[in-house]
Amino acid sequence: MSSSELPAPTVLMARLRRDLEHVAGYGATASGGVSRTSFSGADRQVRAWLADECEQAGLALRTDGIGNVFMRLEAPGAPAGAPPVWAGSHLDSVPEGGRFDGALGSLAALEVLRRLAEEHVPLRRPVEAVVFADEEGNYHHLLGSTAVARGFAPNELGELRGRDGDQLVDALQAMGWDVGAATRTAVRPGDVHAYVELHIEQGSVLESAGARIGVVTAIVGMGGGHLEFRGRQDHAGTTPMPLRRDALRGAADLLVRLPEVARSVSENAVVTCGILHVEPGGANVVPGLARLQLDFRDPDRERILELEEAIVVAARDVADRHNLKVSYTRESITDPVPLNPRMQDLVATVAASQGMQTLRLPSGAGHDAQNVARLAPTGMIFVPSVEGRSHSPAELSTWEDIEAGANVLLAMVHALATD
Ligand SMILES: [Zn+2]
Repeated sequence: MSSSELPAPTVLMARLRRDLEHVAGYGATASGGVSRTSFSGADRQVRAWLADECEQAGLALRTDGIGNVFMRLEAPGAPAGAPPVWAGSHLDSVPEGGRFDGALGSLAALEVLRRLAEEHVPLRRPVEAVVFADEEGNYHHLLGSTAVARGFAPNELGELRGRDGDQLVDALQAMGWDVGAATRTAVRPGDVHAYVELHIEQGSVLESAGARIGVVTAIVGMGGGHLEFRGRQDHAGTTPMPLRRDALRGAADLLVRLPEVARSVSENAVVTCGILHVEPGGANVVPGLARLQLDFRDPDRERILELEEAIVVAARDVADRHNLKVSYTRESITDPVPLNPRMQDLVATVAASQGMQTLRLPSGAGHDAQNVARLAPTGMIFVPSVEGRSHSPAELSTWEDIEAGANVLLAMVHALATD
């Protein structure tokens, strides 16, 4: 019997649960959530804890120049320099975030390494549990995995600032790291055998379909831009309603139309205005300016551009109806990233062999996997989020679903490290 025919061990759920509950204490907030932003005190604490856990498990731990952590299980007898299998996620959170976003994939990957080590599973290549730095983009969207996928030039790194206006290079220095090393983090394609990320869905598609395991097909592309409606600032008491050129009225009209705009482009398209800025901002002044910050997403790049166009067309129509001027400024377009079809099939096969109901779906959120996909065949496993809540203290997944997801991750890593 070859090693690949041996059944994969399963995770020790009590230990994984203990780890998830313990790590939720680093940066715990009064509301029951977690504020563990990158390079904060809570981030330092969780890094120190990881180092202890690795020591106890006999795993080597290395931190690169941008703060990505690599925990390594060697494969005795594998040729020197054999590309490792990666499994991982991130341990930073948004401010007032939840306990599972990133922590699940990171701690499950650590558990996978422990189980492979404890069971002395013969491996053909090393396995690394990777914790990417600053996934939530305090300094840069998907900072750590971007640093791995393409690296940062010194001048680009020097310009990055955090939510509080502090410089990334200062934060790295304060962590005790060599800032020069932060420009030497890129990994060559081919130096990684494959990457698997287990993550909570952060939406409600799996829950409503009654599926326990999500097979992620692609990570959606994303557009960002802002619309500005300009009308005329007037007295709130003396300007009759029909004579007003109220910029906020135009913005409101557009917001009401956005669901139809999205539906006209594709069933997966979403548009959000999360920031609305009104000028001059007086209770007794008709608004002269309204600026809407827009985020729009779709799994298909052409659809993202169509969606942007449809939003602008609707905004022009609204401007005509309310006698306003409108301008649109695109800020960014990020391409969707389809995930490797063989990795998708592996998630589906492994989950089915464990008796799990699966569903294929795109990820509406960005993930480190979209960067690693440039280097190696990449797959993502989703588990349901209760009521789809995420980036909130209300974020929750059941222990049964977590155990199922972690066991799919373990079996996938086992298969990839022994094939
Ligand atoms: Zn995440």
